[in-house]
Amino acid sequence: MAVRTELHRRPTNPLDHVRNLGILAHVDAGKTTVTERILYLTGAVHKRGEVHDGTTVTDFDPQERDRGITIFAAAVSCAWDGHRINLIDTPGHVDFSDEVERSLRVLDGAIAVFDAVAGVEPQSESVWRQADRHGVPRIAFVNKLDRAGADLDTAVASIRDRLHTVPLVVQLPIGAEDGFTGVVDLLRMRALVWDDGHDTFEEEEVPDGLRDEARRRRRLLDEAVAELHPAALEEFCARSAVSGPTLTAALRELTRTGEGVVVLCGSAYRNRGIEPLLDAVVAYLPSPLDVPPVRGTLDDAVQERPADPAAPFAALVFKVNSTATGRLTCLRVYSGTIRKGDTVLDAGARRHERVGRILRVQAGRHSDVDAAVAGDIVAVIGLKSARAGATLCTPAAPLVLEPPAPADPVVSVA
Ligand code: GDP
Repeated sequence: MAVRTELHRRPTNPLDHVRNLGILAHVDAGKTTVTERILYLTGAVHKRGEVHDGTTVTDFDPQERDRGITIFAAAVSCAWDGHRINLIDTPGHVDFSDEVERSLRVLDGAIAVFDAVAGVEPQSESVWRQADRHGVPRIAFVNKLDRAGADLDTAVASIRDRLHTVPLVVQLPIGAEDGFTGVVDLLRMRALVWDDGHDTFEEEEVPDGLRDEARRRRRLLDEAVAELHPAALEEFCARSAVSGPTLTAALRELTRTGEGVVVLCGSAYRNRGIEPLLDAVVAYLPSPLDVPPVRGTLDDAVQERPADPAAPFAALVFKVNSTATGRLTCLRVYSGTIRKGDTVLDAGARRHERVGRILRVQAGRHSDVDAAVAGDIVAVIGLKSARAGATLCTPAAPLVLEPPAPADPVVSVA
């Protein structure tokens, strides 16, 4: 059995258990593989060939599966450690820059995936800048550590130099290239070693030969965090070390302010490093409650809407898909509650629309829900004309959510 890292706090508000997450990457860095591994580990999909108990989501007829995959192209929900993670697709290609903008608007946080051989590539830079403009907090995952020529330190240096941020490296790889077997979790000073045949990892003592290096790196992490965070600095000055709880809290805050980026590593292809990555998503990336209230305008007056199910309903359409089930309108609810049968206003088009069904989407399947609340990402059936980018709101309290930040100039990728 895998032992999970214990990085997170115990939240009390249900919205605190939600993460609206995107994965940003240069083409080929491994976004699809990381996504698949996340869906597999969170039980949203089961590995091919392991469908034996009749309860798996792959037990669908081909048309149903196709439909799921189409929906999955927009958003998919999965669960990790008591949290719902809504994974929102962000197109990996700069040609879809408008779509990237729209997805960035509805994310609360993102994993930026880098190739451990190539480091930061031009497209990663351009999406990173877009995410900066939208204020999307990120953690970094340096993927493909199993590749020949992979080097975490070089990749981290390119994150520092090209993305102009402070990398906060929380893991030390165990082994290199083909011999990459695990990581040392520098916060807890424990080794996580993956088992090839079983897709799980064991938690062990840090190997003798890596103990000094792990201590050195932990000190570097402490110093980097102390430089940016007053509470960590205070502890560091008093004890020449930062305690685990302070470090975790400081990393969470630095992630949210964008002053630093937590860096993890692994090999998605070999199923190594994804569990700690999910733990880090829960620990460091914000919930809908942690992000500033969304802003919109009504007759030129700016209004704020809190992430509160009791507030007036407001949502943003970020993708519309035509599927066999019907026209699926994917939306992020920012405030209030939307119920099956509600009439909503498409504020920009000044048109009323009726909500037929509300679907929560999992890979390969969806389930009907009666209502969706602030912070939710759902697909709605029944809306006839609302387009991507439209604001939907309660007719009694109309507003148009703020337009997206201007698109980044397109960067050509060799
Ligand atoms: P995307 O374009 O970012 O979605 O990248 P993909 O997930 O499609 O991966 C691109 C290629 O890299 C594919 O051939 C993957 O099998 C391969 N790949 C992904 N992750 C890893 C990894 O951790 N190690 C190695 N060696 N290859 C990987």
